[in-house]
Amino acid sequence: MTALSLDRSDLDMRRGACPALSTPMMTGDGLLARISLTGAISPADLADICRLALVHGNGVIDISARGNLQIRGLTETSAPQLDADVRAMNLPLRDGLAVEVPPLAGMDDSEIADPRPLAEAIRKGAREITGLAPKMAVVVDGGGRLRLSDLLADIRLVAAGRNEWKLLLGGTEQSGRLFNVLRETHAVDTVLGLLGRLSTLGNKARGRDLAKDAPAQMLGTSPSMTAKHVAMSPFNLFGLSKDLRAIGIGPAFGQAKAQDLIALCDEASRLCMQSVKPALDHSLLFFGPETACVALRDFAGRHGFIISAGDPRGHIAACPGSPACNSAIIATHDIATKAAAECGDLLDGSFTLHVTGCAKGCAHPEPAALALCGTAAGVSLIAQGKASGEPFAFTDFADTNATLRRLSDLVRTERRPGENSADCLARIGSGRLAAAATGRP
Ligand code: SF4
Repeated sequence: MTALSLDRSDLDMRRGACPALSTPMMTGDGLLARISLTGAISPADLADICRLALVHGNGVIDISARGNLQIRGLTETSAPQLDADVRAMNLPLRDGLAVEVPPLAGMDDSEIADPRPLAEAIRKGAREITGLAPKMAVVVDGGGRLRLSDLLADIRLVAAGRNEWKLLLGGTEQSGRLFNVLRETHAVDTVLGLLGRLSTLGNKARGRDLAKDAPAQMLGTSPSMTAKHVAMSPFNLFGLSKDLRAIGIGPAFGQAKAQDLIALCDEASRLCMQSVKPALDHSLLFFGPETACVALRDFAGRHGFIISAGDPRGHIAACPGSPACNSAIIATHDIATKAAAECGDLLDGSFTLHVTGCAKGCAHPEPAALALCGTAAGVSLIAQGKASGEPFAFTDFADTNATLRRLSDLVRTERRPGENSADCLARIGSGRLAAAATGRP
């Protein structure tokens, strides 16, 4: 077991730092530890993790956008106890470099290629490489119905055809730089070579730094930068084989009370669901027969979970905000809950509304078509940018949802036939959004 350093000066509170099980991170509601799984576990095991969150933490659990479990509200005494108790469960815990594959990898007959063998070889080879950035991430995406295209990755392999993989550096699949198209037999050595180069550049170096340094002729624009990627939501029922389905269920804004997750897992066990995997977009994928999946989905819907791709709450990225995080200036979940109830037609799935407690923008590091950010001067509104971007308007916290309703009304009246909200917001532009936000004619 890895020793836990609990000297506060050692606690990792740096921007961009990633909390892990043995190195928890200080947040507004205490220490936060991350549990990263490399495979599915039983619903009973997930319920047991939730019980540990009640015993050792404050009983609040996040499912991150990358599909990690985060246990909140730990103390300096309870964090090592959680670490020991979770490790004693013999779960498929990830240690070392994050090499991620889509949650249906190897089970999805629409995949171009099974990414798991490449991912495993990279994981194995990377054990020898030290000094990488703590948040270094490699994605190996074989295509299929659930893609990791919107997750940031330092190095990304994307199946491009028979035995061919595109290698992208930095960003999402859309914004990353195309480094090369490789034959499968060269893919692992090339990724390990790049990781080796990153390790020589120090533990702040990221994949995008290699993109800067790579010879110009090596770099190109990812084909996906021109063809708009439409991601499939995990909140669906997926047919995997004659007898096996997966159902995607998630807590609103990626955060749940342990008791609610325990009730969901207990119901999944009662329905004889085989397994569950925390997955992208703050979801849990439960695996089992179709009748059990449908019954579990209905149970989850009755208990307030997101069960459909059309749920507006699934189109909002809201960080824990106030009071969960010390840095938060606003109660993000209050704003997001009202926005989902009042602005359903604005939230049509064409963009993610970013509601953030501060400019760090943990919940959505990429630019968003519309972001609301807590600042000392009020809630800033940003169009087509990151939370730290130039605001087009400010509003008081108490007026935030009324302001958002005015923007939603503007989009409704301005929307052209066939136009989605994201395109409409971009066409309207910051000037008219600012006028609508402030209620000027
Ligand atoms: S973005 Fe949200 S969770 Fe992240 S530091 Fe700011 S307030 Fe906290």
